[in-house]
Amino acid sequence: MPIRDEQARVREIYERLQRESANWEPTSLSHFRGQPFKALIAAMLSAQTREEQTTQAANALFALADNPFDMVKLTDEQIYEAIKPVQYAEAKLRYVRDIAERVAANGGKVPETVEELDEYKGVGWKVAVLTLHMGYNRTEDITVDVHVLRIGIRLGLVDPKTKVPEKANSQLKQVLPREAWEHWNALMVMFGRNVCLPTYPRCPKCFLNDLCPKIGVERVSMR
Ligand code: SF4
Repeated sequence: MPIRDEQARVREIYERLQRESANWEPTSLSHFRGQPFKALIAAMLSAQTREEQTTQAANALFALADNPFDMVKLTDEQIYEAIKPVQYAEAKLRYVRDIAERVAANGGKVPETVEELDEYKGVGWKVAVLTLHMGYNRTEDITVDVHVLRIGIRLGLVDPKTKVPEKANSQLKQVLPREAWEHWNALMVMFGRNVCLPTYPRCPKCFLNDLCPKIGVERVSMR
């Protein structure tokens, strides 16, 4: 496809997603926008975990302590009881404690670079980018999770062989309009749970059907 046509296709995809997103429930992590410490803890808890469980655990933990100085005073039992709905709760208990101790030692300030955050236990590239986005409204990168990767491949925006989030981020940044970067993760999460479902995407009723090459899609939902 000529580059100009491809740019128009991608822009049309983005604009339709923006319009439709008004009808969808916002993502749970968006509640922690502008609150770096909560965004960091919630993003770490969200790894390998469904949104409902992440929200439940994060809210239970923040009800006990909503800042690093109070969180370091919690017992292991209190933290575990709060976060037990998430996957790998025992490991994440240690990560909660490590993050709270490091941020408290830093005067309560969450680092503002991916490199610094990457040194925290339980915080990889994806969690760091998500934290910077939610906590500090930094949008130099696109948070790549399973929805962003799966739908990016189906839409022909990401190479199907791509497995690593950083590479998908680079590919998406080359094709998406700059103003889309900060919204893309939330749009994909909402779109991925309402329309472009993991196993049976709702292609026949999808508002992007005419723009989508459906790469790798083998079965669709007729509902
Ligand atoms: S047409 Fe199907 S594969 Fe393409 S975005 Fe829509 S639901 Fe996903």
